[in-house]
Amino acid sequence: MEIKKNPDPILKRKSAEIKEITEEIRSLGREMVKTMLKNDGIGLAGPQVGVGKRIIVVTMPEGPEVFINPVIVSGSRETDLMEEGCLSVPGIFLKIKRSRSVEVEALTLEGTKVRIKAKGLLARIFQHEIDHLNGILFIDRVSLRQKLWRFINR
Ligand code: ZN
Repeated sequence: MEIKKNPDPILKRKSAEIKEITEEIRSLGREMVKTMLKNDGIGLAGPQVGVGKRIIVVTMPEGPEVFINPVIVSGSRETDLMEEGCLSVPGIFLKIKRSRSVEVEALTLEGTKVRIKAKGLLARIFQHEIDHLNGILFIDRVSLRQKLWRFINR
């Protein structure tokens, strides 16, 4: 599949809930895993391949996994500032502040409900990919101060 790049309007749209995990959705999940690996990504969301549905791929400790309708049910108040990039925003890497740990509820491709406790990089991937489902890019999370600082120092 082809990766949609900023400013493609699909990246700014809110994705739709998946009502039923059909064979079409399972095949979409498999294609997204392949696309992510081919592009050396560590996460991928539906809108990035032009599909406005709530589906993401996340690199778990065991390998890439597909999650359907993921929701962050809680996030830590403690934050981390780490450099981030995105396959849809090539060549730009910025430090983004995010919760250090999150709890996520989602469905697997088999339709099983799972609750995942993630911290560090994994927590960051979930937050980044779920942002995509809400039409938010990591560059939208940079403060004005940081943007000005970069502008002055380029
Ligand atoms: Zn991204």
